Amino acid sequence: MTVLVLGAGLIGVTSAYFLARAGEKVTVVDRQPGPGLETSFANGGQISACHTQPWAHPSTPALALRWLGRPDAPLAIRWSRWDPALWSWGLRFLANCTTGAYDRNMERAVRLALYSRATLKALRTELNLDYDQKTKGILKIYRDPRDYEKGLTAMARTEEWGLHQTALDPAACVALEPALARSENLLVGGILAAEDESGDAHLFTKTLFDKARELGITFLGNHAILGLESSGRKVTGVVTDKGLLRADRVVLALGSYSPFLARTVGLRLPVYPAKGYSLTLDVANPAAAPEISLTDEGQRMVYSRLGHRLRAAGTAELTGWDTTLTQSRVDLIIREAQALFPEAGDYTTATAWCGLRPKTPDSAPIIGAVPGLDNFYLNTGHGTLGWTMACGSGKLLSALLTQTNPEIDAKGLGAGRFMGYR
Ligand SMILES: Cc1cc2nc3c(=O)[nH]c(=O)nc-3n(C[C@H](O)[C@H](O)[C@H](O)COP(=O)(O)OP(=O)(O)OC[C@H]3O[C@@H](n4cnc5c(N)ncnc54)[C@H](O)[C@@H]3O)c2cc1C
Repeated sequence: MTVLVLGAGLIGVTSAYFLARAGEKVTVVDRQPGPGLETSFANGGQISACHTQPWAHPSTPALALRWLGRPDAPLAIRWSRWDPALWSWGLRFLANCTTGAYDRNMERAVRLALYSRATLKALRTELNLDYDQKTKGILKIYRDPRDYEKGLTAMARTEEWGLHQTALDPAACVALEPALARSENLLVGGILAAEDESGDAHLFTKTLFDKARELGITFLGNHAILGLESSGRKVTGVVTDKGLLRADRVVLALGSYSPFLARTVGLRLPVYPAKGYSLTLDVANPAAAPEISLTDEGQRMVYSRLGHRLRAAGTAELTGWDTTLTQSRVDLIIREAQALFPEAGDYTTATAWCGLRPKTPDSAPIIGAVPGLDNFYLNTGHGTLGWTMACGSGKLLSALLTQTNPEIDAKGLGAGRFMGYR
């Protein structure tokens, strides 16, 4: 069977790899010259099943209002301009801000994240992959007792679904990560997810892409996808700036740009970009930079040590598909990182980057067939957890497309939950 995978980010490449391994004849198409050059390029590096709490929570609307207009707020929303995609996404998001929806959405995300983490570990051993990974766990640190309380509640809930974490006092956090020593008096506690990991997502994407090529996939780089053609219950062609492409099956894995192409076959995908920033610093003083991957929960910042580099990432802006690197947001990341790890390296030479996280209103991705279109599949909407969920999403998509038994229940992850989108 021939399969066109649209998009060569983390999600397109893992999908292509598992499809090729299942014996399909795969072609990957991307506007970039190589894999992983957009949102999968310089993310926070965390494989974080421990971050599966959905954004939509009963307390989120009040929190978002408190942050409104604050230049240093972790979340900035530009409601003022007329953006129908943002308003319609926002309404669906609000509908998910109930206790019941939060719990349901978190279970889906935990299920996929745990599967994905296990799939990544197995793949790494099997293929002997190296992508600056660290397998020391993720330590979430808390400065506000209310945030910590919320974290402990989520920890107890996710334990039931198989995600094991441990609560630590500030001294235990510092014992685990000595680079936090100067901040010990700011901390109220920590939560350690010992099985979580970190690593360079771009390096991983490139490495797995090479393995997929060895399995025979074809790559069409520098191909801008302009639209899809359909007839009856089938997608019959993919229109690119280099000509029309055809295959038995088509997989849409275009991250934040998925809605534009889905629209050309009448699908309205509730995926909206949440822009985030990262900073990559050459570590000059290894003892002053963290070894374990960290999340500063109050400041919504993550830190991962990638070889001789330290990656700091955070902030979210709901401001459309604008990829301008806004200096005030970069400064915010620098300030946060410098406050925790002032002697890690020279922050004036660090590299800033931004990317668009493809967010769904319920914080779970959309994976699988599209009702009404027999040969069209989605693997998109991974939001803040695309690296965490990549291997599991690619393997699940491959199983669904090839109609072999998926290793996890795909319930609640498909496009069907957004019915009325067509
Ligand atoms: C600041 C930041 C920090 C993050 N930290 C983490 C983290 O620590 N852990 C984690 O799990 N996740 C993290 N994420 C999220 C994660 O990076 C994303 O979820 C993931 O990269 C999405 O992958 P993707 O393949 O869906 O999208 P992308 O990587 O964007 O891939 C989509 C591909 O489609 C191509 N494309 C788009 N439109 C077209 C078109 N019209 N024609 C041709 N090609 C097209 C693009 O070139 C791109 O290669 C972070 C994201 C950001 C921004």
